[in-house]
Amino acid sequence: MARERILVVEDESDLREVLSYNLSREGFHVLAARDGGEGIRTAREKKPDLILLDLMLPDVDGLEVCRRVRQDSSIAGTPIIMVTAKGEETDVVLGLGVGADDYVAKPFSVKELIARVKAVLRRGASAEEEDDRRPLRRGPILIDPARHEVSVDGEPVRFTATEFRLLKFLASRPGRVYERDVLLRRVLGDDAIRVDRNIDVHIRAIRKKLGSHRDLIETVRGVGYKFRDTGS
Ligand code: CA
Repeated sequence: MARERILVVEDESDLREVLSYNLSREGFHVLAARDGGEGIRTAREKKPDLILLDLMLPDVDGLEVCRRVRQDSSIAGTPIIMVTAKGEETDVVLGLGVGADDYVAKPFSVKELIARVKAVLRRGASAEEEDDRRPLRRGPILIDPARHEVSVDGEPVRFTATEFRLLKFLASRPGRVYERDVLLRRVLGDDAIRVDRNIDVHIRAIRKKLGSHRDLIETVRGVGYKFRDTGS
């Protein structure tokens, strides 16, 4: 498995360092941002697996960061844990419906916080797994994860394990653009990055197998790939 990446958005440098240190020690890859603007930028660039988001930030506050993340289709699904200060109405924060997945109130123990992080990541993973087993239809393509089969225009087509994962990943998220590095990490994991740098080769093979529907996988120049959003 790839190391999960946690983005810590926190303006207090002491707390940012304590969190970064402890999350790294737990095996997470930590990205840090000092304010809301930097937080949003980093989230867009690095596509973290979870965002630990301070509510009170100097420029763009945590609620606004949360809203913007949820509105940006390339990162909208990222789990967010809101960090609130003592005395703030945490129920209100969650009730605002900006889409935080959980919250912790300061002062908190690092141990508690890490437990929350792991719980939220686990929740996300099991929801994704469940989703993953359902057959997925995209226009002429039917992807059946349970049987590991793909059919194009009703005809079964053989895909390698890597091609299958890549096609399923993109087709599950139509319209969302993924950079090559993100695809490698999210679809193939850390090992793949060492042995298999070239995502283009797999994409080429998938397109060939899609035949006349090859343009369902679009190249976004200078960025990466996306599955065409057919609206179906
Ligand atoms: Ca703060």
